Amino acid sequence: MNTSTFLPTSAKEMRRRGWESCDIVIVTPDAYIDHPSFGMAVLGRFLEHHGFKVGILSQPRWKESGAFLEFGRPNLAFAVSGGAMDSMVINYTAVGIPRRDDPYCDGGEPYFSKKGDAKRYRIRPDRVVQVYSSQIRAACKGVPIIIGGIEASLRRIAHYDWWSDTVRRSILFDSKADLLIYGMGEYPLLHTMSALRDNKDLSDLRIPGTAVVRKTTDDLGDTIQLPSYEEVRDDKKSFARAFCLFEKSNRNHIIFQQQDTRHLVQFPARVLTSHELDAIYDLPYTRMPHPKYHDIPAYRMIRDSVTAHRGCYGNCAFCAITAHQGPEIVSRSKKSVLREIRTLAKVPGFGGTITDIGGPSANMYGSGCAIGGCPTHDCIKDGTVCRNLLPGTRDYISLLDAAAECPGIRHVFIGSGLRFEGPLLPELFLRKILKGNISGHMKIAPESGSDSVLRHMGKSSTSAFNEFYRLYERICREERIASRLIPYIIVGHPGERRKDVYATRDFLIHYRLQGNQFQIFTPSPLTRSTAMYYLGYDPCSEEPVEVVRERRELEKRKKILTGRDRGAHGYQ
Ligand code: SF4
Repeated sequence: MNTSTFLPTSAKEMRRRGWESCDIVIVTPDAYIDHPSFGMAVLGRFLEHHGFKVGILSQPRWKESGAFLEFGRPNLAFAVSGGAMDSMVINYTAVGIPRRDDPYCDGGEPYFSKKGDAKRYRIRPDRVVQVYSSQIRAACKGVPIIIGGIEASLRRIAHYDWWSDTVRRSILFDSKADLLIYGMGEYPLLHTMSALRDNKDLSDLRIPGTAVVRKTTDDLGDTIQLPSYEEVRDDKKSFARAFCLFEKSNRNHIIFQQQDTRHLVQFPARVLTSHELDAIYDLPYTRMPHPKYHDIPAYRMIRDSVTAHRGCYGNCAFCAITAHQGPEIVSRSKKSVLREIRTLAKVPGFGGTITDIGGPSANMYGSGCAIGGCPTHDCIKDGTVCRNLLPGTRDYISLLDAAAECPGIRHVFIGSGLRFEGPLLPELFLRKILKGNISGHMKIAPESGSDSVLRHMGKSSTSAFNEFYRLYERICREERIASRLIPYIIVGHPGERRKDVYATRDFLIHYRLQGNQFQIFTPSPLTRSTAMYYLGYDPCSEEPVEVVRERRELEKRKKILTGRDRGAHGYQ
């Protein structure tokens, strides 16, 4: 087993590199996949590139605190990631049932040991960031702990936690870690590591994209104070006020929130440049899982895909991407994407098909703003696209065409979702991708067929979908393309009444939309939809919304859409 091209995952592999210790140990509940779609690989390679010795501690046996000392005591820090998704979202279904698989584990198997073994337990513990951090504290006193990843990002201020039905403190307090990095994290982690190397105290740092616990905020200058944890826990109006204030100010201001006698202080993140993003994706990833694994389902899904940009200005109320990656689009240069494609073409087993060149929404690649410095980022609101938005359609077409010309490439597909609003999906572009870049199935996310629910979701109305559909149908007819639309639908979003479910059913029938991408709404932390779910009203407009909490009713609604309980109708 040749592991020399991977970052070390054990003491043995570390010593093979001639190291006695690591500067940083990245601890993750996901299997280590050295591919730029996975956070541990990106952060590890980025720090390695900047001269740090990095160990990857993947899926430690977390009940044994000694497991966290695989590499011994790191010289500078532990970095604890919650993995690619929040551990509660991965471990439980949207109605709270434990899941039987985990796509980020070898073979999808979520347990250590075999069935029937007394020592059998889940590879990914619930609230993994807290569990790992406290085990590290117990095993290795005095070493700084940095937390990050989506679980930490979305729990960085006091938040509603659906799984415990409580308002919880910032995860920085609960995990007793020293510093939290939110967002994608490369530069915040690099600057934190440099500060640690210079013996700086983490609580004194003011690194963009991080949060720390401080006793005082007096020396910080202009700040915005959110209602305290105790206030938001005890009073829903304070919760709503904190949520709206956070949403409005967290990208541009230092914000703080008191929790007991201390303060959680968050420094606004810096948006990367395209040049910086290129450098991150140009690092020497092997694009393979570590050889100790056999088959990781999540790897199969992204193996032959390429990330072209980060960020999303869609502002969908249920989505965590804006809170994590930010609304600003940062696109890689065409040259950098093509370099990656040429590398991909040489990976053993690559069959010539790129499954995706995209990002959170594929057709946001290359987008920009004509004025810049806009505080709202309401680029798509009520189905209308802001007149200052500069869509990157031409750049994206040119990128797709150039990718198809690369040696060893036979097909280039778009696997990421596409926004269907007219300015982002003009006829020229839609015709081009239907002819050459959609593998027979086009993923589209109307999310609901009820305009009232769509308004609560922050999505465009059904008339915007109708406009898209007419164009799509005409192009398919003219070009004789046998394409199928795969709709993404959320069931049980706050504001959805039974009659809205029937409206969605009729919408699906009307447009002859079929598929299995119907998901019950999961109230993940820090989204506006989750705030609505908790409060029973929109936190900012104060408009009341109906909320369904009963599992049976949610399942019934899903059945109405999936066809098993559709009454007299069936798909046409
Ligand atoms: S001005 Fe318009 S396009 Fe520019 S960021 Fe603001 S909402 Fe988006």
